Amino acid sequence: MAQDDCLFCKIVKGEVPAEIVRESERAVAFRDINPQAPTHVLVIPREHHPNAAEAAAADTGLLDEIVRVAHEVAVDEGVADQGYRLVFNTGSGAGQTVFHLHGHLLGGRGLNWPPG
Ligand code: 5GP
Ligand code: ZN
Repeated sequence: MAQDDCLFCKIVKGEVPAEIVRESERAVAFRDINPQAPTHVLVIPREHHPNAAEAAAADTGLLDEIVRVAHEVAVDEGVADQGYRLVFNTGSGAGQTVFHLHGHLLGGRGLNWPPG
């Protein structure tokens, strides 16, 4: 179920504009409004889940689709061969600000480890 006050539910419904780069049956991928790398795409489920752990508990297979779509975007963007990062910030202490599951696909530059 969509949540009325959720920004990413509004993007799924087309109520808030976004630069969508890929869609699948259960997932939508769009460019982050404040990109942290040459490729910075958010991959989200159409259904509202607050974070990756809750999505995994509620819907077996959904995260597989998120990862699959993220990889397809990485291939399309030409960053798959050099390597990319797929991040699920979980909880405000880890920097999560939008509580609708999203994978950050980051690529197109060197990515340090450990992350900040
Ligand atoms: P979080 O901090 O929750 O892991 O990531 C939320 C991400 O959503 C941030 O990287 C932020 O730049 C992005 N974001 C916030 N509002 C919007 C928006 O209205 N449109 C798009 N495309 N991205 C957004
Ligand atoms: Zn939502």
